[in-house]
Amino acid sequence: MLCEIFLILVGVKGLLSPSTSNQKETDMSLEPADCPLCRSPAERAPLRSHDGYSYVCPSCGSYHIGGLAYGKAMRGHVAAHVHVDVRRLQAEGELPRIEFNAPDFVVKPVARGKQ
Ligand SMILES: [Zn+2]
Repeated sequence: MLCEIFLILVGVKGLLSPSTSNQKETDMSLEPADCPLCRSPAERAPLRSHDGYSYVCPSCGSYHIGGLAYGKAMRGHVAAHVHVDVRRLQAEGELPRIEFNAPDFVVKPVARGKQ
């Protein structure tokens, strides 16, 4: 009986503290997911220090998107300027982060050193 409890505790601890305890922003494991901006097959990883995802899309490039903006985008409510802003920031060497601050989308560079 005690042995069983011990095994359960060890199992729970293992789930709570993943063996990879590096401080990178995203998990290394990209998962396939359609791009919320253009619906192309893309890849994403959940962000660790913010809500949302880091996306790598073959046509939109790399960008971060917040949870609220993601929900809006997946329902087809992407403002036209978002694509333009993402492209502009990428051209400037920045990593864009897309947020939704009512009533509109806001695209800002991800703070340096926090990628
Ligand atoms: Zn895309």
